[in-house]
Amino acid sequence: MIKIKSVRTRVWTWTGPTVPPQGNFCTNASDALWMKGDAMASFRFHQWLTCEVEASDGTIGIGNAALAPALVKQAIDEWYAPLVIGEDPFDTAYLWEKMYRRTHAWGRKGVGMTAISAIDIAVWDLMGKLVGKPVFKLLGGRTKEKIPVYYSKLYAGPVEDMQREAEEAMNGGYLAFKSRFGYGPRDGMPGMRENLKRVEALREVIGYDNDLMLECYMGWNLDYAKRMLPKLVRYEPRWLEEPVIADDVNGYRELNAMNLVPISGGEHEYSVIGCADLIRSGAVSVMQYDTNRVGGITAAQKINAIAEAFQVPVIPHAGQAHNYHLTMANTNCPMSEYFPVFDVEVGNELFYYLFDGDPEAQDGFLQLDDDMPGLGISISDRYIDHFEISE
Ligand code: MG
Repeated sequence: MIKIKSVRTRVWTWTGPTVPPQGNFCTNASDALWMKGDAMASFRFHQWLTCEVEASDGTIGIGNAALAPALVKQAIDEWYAPLVIGEDPFDTAYLWEKMYRRTHAWGRKGVGMTAISAIDIAVWDLMGKLVGKPVFKLLGGRTKEKIPVYYSKLYAGPVEDMQREAEEAMNGGYLAFKSRFGYGPRDGMPGMRENLKRVEALREVIGYDNDLMLECYMGWNLDYAKRMLPKLVRYEPRWLEEPVIADDVNGYRELNAMNLVPISGGEHEYSVIGCADLIRSGAVSVMQYDTNRVGGITAAQKINAIAEAFQVPVIPHAGQAHNYHLTMANTNCPMSEYFPVFDVEVGNELFYYLFDGDPEAQDGFLQLDDDMPGLGISISDRYIDHFEISE
């Protein structure tokens, strides 16, 4: 019988060129602090964790995490790896529960669940490779001819720059777009006007036949969001994303109940039950768990089933192969978020430099290979000189 032989973790720190930080490029939870200096520092991350789970026959499954990679590495090395070594990789439900329950006192959310996610994703990749099937075929198979994606960038900046970026994305064939707000409560009425000006400017470019999503990244609060929602209605956003901090579930519920703009969120929620609470209570109209944090593919599939029962569409947070496989295998996942390939900026795009095989969008869609086993990615050495690796 195949067993898990080892778990290898590495932290990859990008030392190559980065796009310098821009002011007001995206609101975030730290804005409320009126910090001096770079309040956006917590938004950027130039580190990534790879987690390789090796089977007794030498086959290796690859998982990863972008949240606090050094801490997640330590959690895996010290706690989680010993729990899965020697086990059958096909016992995914048991492995997940073992990791979850043995660390329940501290691991349910945050670093612990991110570590579970990295191992779980690696185990699914490993299973696919062992049976010679893509992961989406293990999850239910193909539900779409191809996956529609939305262009996810358009950080706040000078209006003309944003319009130019939107136009280039339109020319690239994208049909849906997500933009970030740059101003929040501390910027008062002038900031509100700056926010609205940019939404209007983007609609000017993309028109009203294409979807526009708006992202706050937890940088607003309930009061500010309540004042903004009526002003946004005329621009017909498909959703407003993470208007308030992740813990303010009542805030999400209240905003969604206003029925003006659908509220989305979930990328900073953890576990099946955490996401089920958001869905069941009507806090989100679109569920956007992050597979790298929520508990990996095993947890994501359960959340998909719950969301489907409540008819809440699921669009997993971020690009990356594992999200595309989940989207392909679920009718209730209408499209994927897609980070276009760019120079390293906030860190969202770092996985393109770390892995080979993540599919690239063409004309607003991406495709998965029916014959590529596992998730279809490998760790790349193309940019190895631009990474510092700790193991
Ligand atoms: Mg988001």
